[in-house]
Amino acid sequence: MDNLLRDRHTPAELAAIGQVIEITGKVADLEQLTEIVRKDLETLNADKLPLDWRESPVAGQLAFGFAAAQDDLPTLEGQVSVTIPAVCQRCLGVVEIPLEVELRLILGGDVANAADDEHYEFWELDEDTLRPLDLLEEVLIMAIPLAAMHVDDAVCKQPAALAEEATETTRPFAMLKSQMQQKD
Ligand SMILES: [Zn+2]
Repeated sequence: MDNLLRDRHTPAELAAIGQVIEITGKVADLEQLTEIVRKDLETLNADKLPLDWRESPVAGQLAFGFAAAQDDLPTLEGQVSVTIPAVCQRCLGVVEIPLEVELRLILGGDVANAADDEHYEFWELDEDTLRPLDLLEEVLIMAIPLAAMHVDDAVCKQPAALAEEATETTRPFAMLKSQMQQKD
């Protein structure tokens, strides 16, 4: 992944030169995200583990500048996308989750002074300097759904245990129905 993503600068420095960073990397470059995915997949049997997910591409672009309305406010605009595997909360199989994030941020600055007429979100900075890779990783982690699930029901197959449970719960209704039919 580009060194520009790993270097620390103040937002004002990046904005002043209008830094543009092309993102061409892989999941493994994002250590925290990789760890989250790895932990999620831990419950899977070894034979079900997706291969090479750490190699899946991370792509996008970041562009630094200043807000048009107030030129002392550094901004970051761009987008980033990656697809990660996750355990489906319904069938416990693997589901591919595309994460696509659009960024339109004001970096640091005094929230009280800024007019939000350009639909920027504020991004708080803990330090004076920023490592773009950290920000990138944070927004992608925030984009992970709380409960990953297959969108397509045909792909989402319930495991045997769950299917049996479902039969158990429908049985009382089946009995009730047959009793009613006997009365007729
Ligand atoms: Zn599923």
